[in-house]
Amino acid sequence: MKDLARQLEAAGVHTLLAQFTDVHGVAKGKYVPLAHLDDLLRTGAGFAGPSIWGTGLPRTGARAEYYARADAALIKPMPWQPGYARAVCSGFVDGQPFEACPRQVLQRATQRLAERGWTLKTGIEPEFFLLRQEAGKWVPADDADRLDKPSYDLRSLPRQAEFLDALNRTLTAWGLDVLQLDHEDAHSQFEVNFAFDEALASADHLIGFKLAAQALAEARGMVFSMMPKPFANQPGSGMHFHVSLWDEAGRGLFSPEAGSGADLSELGRHFIAGVLAHSPALCALAAPTVNSYKRLVVGESLSGTSWAPAYVAHGPNNRTAVVRTLPGRFEWRLPDASTNPYLATAALIAAGLDGIDRRLDPGPACTDDLFQIPLGDIRARGIPVLPQSLSEAVQALQADEVVSAALGPVLTAEFIRLKQAEWTAYARHVSDWELSRYAAMF
Ligand code: GLU
Ligand code: MG
Ligand code: MG
Repeated sequence: MKDLARQLEAAGVHTLLAQFTDVHGVAKGKYVPLAHLDDLLRTGAGFAGPSIWGTGLPRTGARAEYYARADAALIKPMPWQPGYARAVCSGFVDGQPFEACPRQVLQRATQRLAERGWTLKTGIEPEFFLLRQEAGKWVPADDADRLDKPSYDLRSLPRQAEFLDALNRTLTAWGLDVLQLDHEDAHSQFEVNFAFDEALASADHLIGFKLAAQALAEARGMVFSMMPKPFANQPGSGMHFHVSLWDEAGRGLFSPEAGSGADLSELGRHFIAGVLAHSPALCALAAPTVNSYKRLVVGESLSGTSWAPAYVAHGPNNRTAVVRTLPGRFEWRLPDASTNPYLATAALIAAGLDGIDRRLDPGPACTDDLFQIPLGDIRARGIPVLPQSLSEAVQALQADEVVSAALGPVLTAEFIRLKQAEWTAYARHVSDWELSRYAAMF
């Protein structure tokens, strides 16, 4: 510990950011002077438990205090904020790991895999918008060209080269492995691809990426946004997960048996069968806001421009399905950018393990462009449609014992309570659309 303090001091660090995430996956924390590193590692920084979304902690007594305890291996200077180091923390209450801390939830899930000698790796692909406010309205930071389809655009991309370069350098200096950065399908929408890593590390990195990107965008007068669907007539922001499973010898357990011609091994097929079977409940975690369902809508997918899946299907390199298989891995296309990566990964693991334990069969691979097939035909083929609202997804989570068990009773109850309240507030809101449609109509 003394060595660590000395190293940090030598790197110019005087303050630690004790950082954890709430149930929404939003980073929270406080500053701790480096002189108190020992306390942060042994006990943790204290927070008023009930003030943190999703803890359900009481206002008084020993359980009212939430401790964010740091992991010595996960303290790293923040390149964009000289003098400060982010300390990735997990939640503890009354001296015990707090069961409703999202990071603890994921640690429990990866532990279940470790008991079988397995490690899940994820490569996460966040999409995001750069926004600004103009006369009180949110607008893309840049839509100068007003192109119909700015995907991979090389006029818009260089306009943000300075921001993207700062982001790339910052993340790389921080030890994150950035594979690619591109301009996505909407005005001022971008994507960063990270190299795959152990599930917990990928989730930690994703939160770190958001911290850095928020700060770097703000310094340039822009707002970094991972809202799933800021503009009705533009594609939304997904956050796909590339998923693979490994044994202790470093063998990829999803790699297909020689000569099978399939993308995935039998184990991999059982895993995706579990993911497909639990898709309605997984939606609550991987499409967790009211706004998420404006990305996943059936009609928009039919237009073929949004690339967000609406149907529970899998297929080789099929970007129109929830699960796109690739040799030895699959891309889970359901999650949107507002997803809490800890909870979504934990739920994914539970679903996949259920598929393995019950030897579920994912059914035949779908090679069709599902965006071109009318909904009636989709239903006739028996392809399930994803929940079309947060309310539907939360009901599916309530009914799903496997996914609820992975989250644990405290977090499940809190999550459902908060999401039902979010849905009710939305449903009761009278929008401009309603007024313009109905005010003079009746
Ligand atoms: N923006 C799309 C989504 O919401 C994904 C586009 C892509 O395939 O990269 O999932
Ligand atoms: Mg993309
Ligand atoms: Mg992708």
